[in-house]
Amino acid sequence: MLTQLTWQLEAIFGLIFPEQCVICGWAGGLICKPCRSRLEPYPLAPTPVGLDAMSVAWLYDREVRHAIHALKYQRQQRVALALADALADGLTAPPGEALIPVPLHPRRLAERGFNQAEVLARRLAWRWHLPVRAEGLVRARETGHQAQLGQKERQSNVAGAFVWQAPRPPPARVLLVDDVLTTGATLIACANALRAVGTREVRAVALARSLAPQGRVLQ
Ligand SMILES: [Zn+2]
Repeated sequence: MLTQLTWQLEAIFGLIFPEQCVICGWAGGLICKPCRSRLEPYPLAPTPVGLDAMSVAWLYDREVRHAIHALKYQRQQRVALALADALADGLTAPPGEALIPVPLHPRRLAERGFNQAEVLARRLAWRWHLPVRAEGLVRARETGHQAQLGQKERQSNVAGAFVWQAPRPPPARVLLVDDVLTTGATLIACANALRAVGTREVRAVALARSLAPQGRVLQ
């Protein structure tokens, strides 16, 4: 409740004193309108095997990369809110009973101070009137950076890295939330962990995908 009030106050404050855009630096809001219009939509692509559906907003290129970099490495959590809003504006709420953010390993969480996927999930949940279940899915094993790995290697690298640890089982229909995906190996590993404890349907939503339609990896 307090978070929602804070978000509303920030929105009003932002109209009076617009913040600098994290992409171009113009004082037109965290992601200004011209930059927002330049974000390249991700084309329709087959859903990775292991997920029931997947929605990706943008190609991970130029402006999107810049904004997500600000979010992850300059610790600008509010960029996640702006990106989540832009995503929600272009997407009707996918079916699902609850949103589950892809968890970080506790060590990575301690380094960064927040899980960007959870910030996204909480904002999307607020927009879509759905609950968030952030406590059950756990990254039990560190998987390192996957940038240099191929599709098969990515899958074996994250296989079994996630487990469900809450006493209450996960919902039957889940909407996984992540910031950037490449092959989808992490989302599939999360989906497998959820299915192992009773979830039947796993959809996923992400800001951006770093696998270009022609198969080139954009890192
Ligand atoms: Zn801008």
